[in-house]
Amino acid sequence: MLRFAPSPTGDMHIGNLRVALFNYISSVQREEPLLIRIEDTDKERNIPGKDKEIFEILALFGIQYQEQQLQSDNLRFHRAMALQLLQDKKAFNCFCAPETLDAKRESAIEGKTAYRYDGACENLPPEEVIDNPLPFTIRLKKPDHAITVTDIIKGESTFVPDDIDSFILMRADKYPTYNFACAVDDMLADVSLIIRGEDHLSNTPKQIAIHEALGYTKKVEYAHLPIILGNDGKKMSKRDDASSVKWLLEEGYVPEAISNYLILMGNKTPVEIFSLKEAIKWFDLKTISKAPARFDIDKLKFINREHLKGLDPKELSRYVGFADEEIGNLAKLFLEEASTLKELRTKIRAVFGAKTVPDEYKEEFEILRELTLKAPHFDDYEAYKTYLMEHSGLKGKNLLEPLRLLLSGVEHGPEMGDLYMHIKNYLKEVVK
Ligand code: GLU
Repeated sequence: MLRFAPSPTGDMHIGNLRVALFNYISSVQREEPLLIRIEDTDKERNIPGKDKEIFEILALFGIQYQEQQLQSDNLRFHRAMALQLLQDKKAFNCFCAPETLDAKRESAIEGKTAYRYDGACENLPPEEVIDNPLPFTIRLKKPDHAITVTDIIKGESTFVPDDIDSFILMRADKYPTYNFACAVDDMLADVSLIIRGEDHLSNTPKQIAIHEALGYTKKVEYAHLPIILGNDGKKMSKRDDASSVKWLLEEGYVPEAISNYLILMGNKTPVEIFSLKEAIKWFDLKTISKAPARFDIDKLKFINREHLKGLDPKELSRYVGFADEEIGNLAKLFLEEASTLKELRTKIRAVFGAKTVPDEYKEEFEILRELTLKAPHFDDYEAYKTYLMEHSGLKGKNLLEPLRLLLSGVEHGPEMGDLYMHIKNYLKEVVK
């Protein structure tokens, strides 16, 4: 089993989508099921409706899964296993007040040393535990040995017991911490490979320590994906528009192009433009670079254009909001300059919308407009142009510049002959 375990705490970030894609591809390659686990145990940070959005995005990107689960449905297992660890003396109750711990943390920071739990409650006599009315957390006893994480992308990292520390499994409110819930759930789901962001690498030895304490011996594989940096070399934060999947979709990047780019970025792939289905044939976690990936919006634009070029005209016309294949063909003409559906819609709106004409061509524009409204239908551009020339007396630049404006709404663009081909059936509407 593989799993994608998003928290419903905000808009989906491209980093999350990348993790989802890699999990999906790997699950198909390994012929193992994929579980979507919504990690909703951090009640304060959950945002209603975000879980639904996650599933919508997965569907849109063609990420298929076999199982789905809410982490909070496993609460009884988290609690039962915490009790088990207490009984086995692998964990202990900690009655330290949050203020006490905060004060110790602060003095560690002041003394410029790393804060570690000082073991104050680790060896309390039983009577102080049993009759203690104070709220308590449950902590795992820090392991007595170093833990080495073997990662498909990052190689080996070794963590000494102090790095792992006697960390909290269950909070005072009887809810599990991320590390505990995650480790228990991965164990219950018999997960074989965990693919997630590199920000979780330091959690992995903790989760392995939990597995060890629970006597779970399955060898889980790990792949931690390097973080994504913006073009400025800084970590892409939630505040960068382009880091939000929703924003990219609204801007008119198509899912096929976004997944293409997220698979290509920071990776060695045999080709540059591909579908998700093709990627499944050759994708290899081992070719992903250890170094952070750089998100380059210009590269994504190029890839988006390539995918839009590959669409059949009917599909493209639907994407830009029409139901006519000719409009799809018209849109294709604009793909040299436009990269997104939003930009394409602007170009098409300029063809059909009201036109702004510079003073120098106002008169010519009006003459051509009226002639076109009265003109018979011409199948080809040359015949139409000859008709205009003969009836207006205009020629050269004085004909062509206002004519381009009349037919496209802009001063530069595709070949007039090509443009005419795809709008001739709408000519009266274009010039109205
Ligand atoms: N809920 C965690 C996150 O969104 C999951 C990390 C993991 O895959 O274990 O980052």
